[in-house]
Amino acid sequence: MGLSEVSELCYKITESYLKLNHETSIIIETQNAIRLTRHYLLDDIFTRWSPINGEISFSYNGGKDCQVLLLLYLSCLWEFFIVNAKRSQFEAKYQKFPMEQLPTVFIDQDETFTTLENFILETSKRYNLSLYESKKEVGRNQSMADAFRDFLKIYPETKAIAIGVRSTDPYGELLKPIQKTDSNWPNFTRLQPLLHWKLANIWSFLLFSNEPICALYVHGFTSIGGIKNTIPNPYLAVQNKENKENKAPKLYFEWEIKNSFNNGESPTNKRIGTSVSYLDKADEKISIGLGQTKFFPGWYLIDDALERAGRLKK
Ligand code: FAD
Ligand code: MG
Ligand code: MG
Repeated sequence: MGLSEVSELCYKITESYLKLNHETSIIIETQNAIRLTRHYLLDDIFTRWSPINGEISFSYNGGKDCQVLLLLYLSCLWEFFIVNAKRSQFEAKYQKFPMEQLPTVFIDQDETFTTLENFILETSKRYNLSLYESKKEVGRNQSMADAFRDFLKIYPETKAIAIGVRSTDPYGELLKPIQKTDSNWPNFTRLQPLLHWKLANIWSFLLFSNEPICALYVHGFTSIGGIKNTIPNPYLAVQNKENKENKAPKLYFEWEIKNSFNNGESPTNKRIGTSVSYLDKADEKISIGLGQTKFFPGWYLIDDALERAGRLKK
């Protein structure tokens, strides 16, 4: 799949989700969340910065939030192209999708999980990302702001960067969908069209999409930081049978998983249980290191306040 095809796929996933009439409050809320994000992207962002000439870059770390934003971003890119193509005097089918790769930036700040690194590389291929990776030796002793300074030296045409940050993230509460960086950061515009998304919305859309997701989530992670300060979420631990009081957490997304996009038509993409992304050997010892505790998958947790319970204090 080229960028054109995968953008069209994301468009179809999004349209299918918006058409769902299985009315759970989570699905209705997520449909509204998608509509608002699409409005930011199509009406406020792509009208001010061109998505096709390198003015906008995408910040990507393989996490669930920026993956959701990526799916919506590509979906809107497709819509932006088709709408413009229809306005043109030439028939849309004779027009070439205006770009081959999406400018993307990953700052390799902490020592990361090999599983996550593999996932970033796999998905860079899948979504046709032209991935800028900060230099490891530098990045790990460098502030994120300085890493972005280096990035801008190489890509000075960048005017705005899309970020999958949500209001429930630390210091996220006061952020706005479109805002300049703070004074101690290099100067560009932050595009944050996912602020209003709750954890439940993220999982509902991502599980429905049937896209590969990082295997760490399958093993109980709910928020992925550096390897030294992230463990699976303790609230998802499967406790031993002796502990009779321990109840299994409720799965809110059974319907999305059963009725996921294209389910049955693409057997290679059966993700739940046998994720396309796999837990790397190097990371298997992490779960063993935790005293053989098993964990429910990350999507069994929908309380935003507990999302980072697996993050240890640095
Ligand atoms: P996460 O959920 O891990 O990250 C939220 C989003 O940030 C991700 O979805 C992804 O889009 C992006 N992101 C996170 N880590 C990386 C990474 N290693 N490489 C690439 N993208 C990543 N803070 C300020 O105080 N002032 C600023 O002006 C400011 N500008 C920023 C501009 C950009 C482009 C980015 C990516 C971050 C900026 N930040 C700024 C920091 C930001 O507010 C978050 O603190 C930071 O993204 C870490 O997020 P998190 O780990 O809390 O949440
Ligand atoms: Mg996040
Ligand atoms: Mg982070």
